[in-house]
Amino acid sequence: MDYWNTAKRLIVRNPPASSAKFRSLSVKFFRFTAFLVLWIVTVILAYNMHQGSFDLGKGLLLCLIVVLVAYAIARFTINLLVKPIRILQRGIEEVGQGNLKRIKFPSTGDEIEFLAESFNSMIKRLAESQKRLVEYQEELEQKVKERTHELEGAMQKAMEASGAKSEFLANMSHELRTPMNGLLGMIELSLDAPASTEQKEQLETAQRCALSLLSLVNDVLDLSKIESGKMALEHINFNITSTLEDALRGYAIKARQKGVLLEWNFSPNLPAEVSGDPLRLRQIVNNLVSNSVKFTSEGAIEVKISAHKSETDASRWAVELHVIDTGTGIPEDKLIIIFEKFTQVDGSISRRFGGTGLGLAITKRLVELQNGKISVESELGLGSKFSIVLEYDPAMPVQVSEKLTPTAAVEDVAKPSGQKHSGAILLVEDNAVNQRVVMTVLKKRGYEIDVASNGIEALAKLEQRSYGIILMDVQMPVMDGLEATRKLRLDPRWNDVPVIAMTAHAMSGDKERCIAAGMNAYISKPVHSAHLIATIEAYYTKPVAKEASTHPNDLMRPFIAQANEGLFELRKSVEAVDLDRLGEQIRNLREAAEIISATGVVESAKRVELAIQSKKTDAVTHGLLLLEGEITRLQQSTTVTTEYAAK
Ligand code: ADP
Repeated sequence: MDYWNTAKRLIVRNPPASSAKFRSLSVKFFRFTAFLVLWIVTVILAYNMHQGSFDLGKGLLLCLIVVLVAYAIARFTINLLVKPIRILQRGIEEVGQGNLKRIKFPSTGDEIEFLAESFNSMIKRLAESQKRLVEYQEELEQKVKERTHELEGAMQKAMEASGAKSEFLANMSHELRTPMNGLLGMIELSLDAPASTEQKEQLETAQRCALSLLSLVNDVLDLSKIESGKMALEHINFNITSTLEDALRGYAIKARQKGVLLEWNFSPNLPAEVSGDPLRLRQIVNNLVSNSVKFTSEGAIEVKISAHKSETDASRWAVELHVIDTGTGIPEDKLIIIFEKFTQVDGSISRRFGGTGLGLAITKRLVELQNGKISVESELGLGSKFSIVLEYDPAMPVQVSEKLTPTAAVEDVAKPSGQKHSGAILLVEDNAVNQRVVMTVLKKRGYEIDVASNGIEALAKLEQRSYGIILMDVQMPVMDGLEATRKLRLDPRWNDVPVIAMTAHAMSGDKERCIAAGMNAYISKPVHSAHLIATIEAYYTKPVAKEASTHPNDLMRPFIAQANEGLFELRKSVEAVDLDRLGEQIRNLREAAEIISATGVVESAKRVELAIQSKKTDAVTHGLLLLEGEITRLQQSTTVTTEYAAK
């Protein structure tokens, strides 16, 4: 590489002789010799003239001799010096153009041949290093290719792992929240029932433990959701004061119990409404204020909230929030690490005060997710001040929708009114414990409840009765809540019954999926009884009398008899592996079911038809089982008792 550059530099510094600036050596020699000989001749002629013996003929001859001698000397120098130098020059020019060729040089045995040989050996070394360079480049390219391939593989694996992590989180969320829902519901019910003081205390302790476990599960899930980029933010209009006041009142009671005064001050310049995520704001304030209450044993806690126009965009609001306490304070060297996950100032804190070290990590990430800023100042033994700035868009103009608009936002519903209701609610839930909890809570309020364990059962129930509201679990066997909602929304009889999703799914996008399927609201499990009732009250519509003509028993009865016979025939076709005949029988059955609007049977029949078309015998057998189940369910629901041969 160095040789190469050196050579190039040399060539640039010493341009070829062909350039107009240069004159050939032969010309120079010719002129020099001509001048020299001319001078000698002039001296001789001058001497002759001085002696008086000048002869013109002799003078001319001498001049001719002068020219000839000069020419001969020039030729001689050209052959001896200029030609070899030209060969060298062409060689250098070739090298300049990147052709590392040896120079073919006539053997002159002088310095120029030596120069040419040196030049050739330099070319040889240059060629070798260029070859090494090319090899090195190829090797490097190969390595880059391999590394890129490895990186792509690692990236793919990381994406798969991240996908698996999200999947795991969704499942874990469901698996943990479902039993928690049952547990908390049962505790709540037991606390309502008559019990001795000791039993009540035990139940309250169990409730506290279950709630703190739930809050831990929620924290871990929140953090994982933020880290995997799945935390979706709301953009809805909300009032900052009312969003925070309720939560602060709760903490004021806790603080008072410890002899600490909790005060808050909402500046009058706060806008009436802003657009953003109220839940996340409440979560941030909850985390900060609960820490202050936890770490302050005397003195006061002050929460100050004010707003001003954003410096970067005057149409936005910058909301400033300070939580100031006179608590234990935080040592200076720990002020940064407290925002890291699972970090506490010292290990004894979790033993004394509880906590997991996740609160501030989540708070910081939530603030940053909303492009806000968080900072802390603290003095050990004197107290701490946490400050936050969050920017919000101005409130959006509200469009009032004509029907099914709840009286309050789902997660923000008003407290139950205390009225008792009559009318039916359809609870679609596969978990027996949860069924019991919700039923007990709602029955106490005077609601009549019917239960379905999956979407298909729910659709069958809807055929028989009108409901004021449907509480729909999302994840269920046979037919999940999303599919069931989509189906019932397609039917004009039910397209305006309010459907409330009641789900343990807590991942981002779940709410959107429920709403997209046609549900009206979303409550995440574990469901608080007060929250549940308030939501129901917000959405409840009086059931309309069911149309008697939908599928009266006089049509239903012959259908079921025919269907049972049909099942017997179907089975024979399956045994004879006669798929064509089976397809025809199923189609007949489906058409009959369509007439009486037996949606469950129609859907199962369609499934079998599809399986027959794709010749998947396993799917056909499975579909037939479901179809049988549907027919049996229909049979039970219309109290027609028909025995069928296959039993
Ligand atoms: P934890 O669940 O332990 O409270 P956090 O992330 O909320 O977790 O807080 C991390 C640590 O920061 C706490 O354990 C405590 O040591 C310290 N800390 C947070 N807020 C305060 C406060 N207001 N006063 C004193 N120490 C605090």
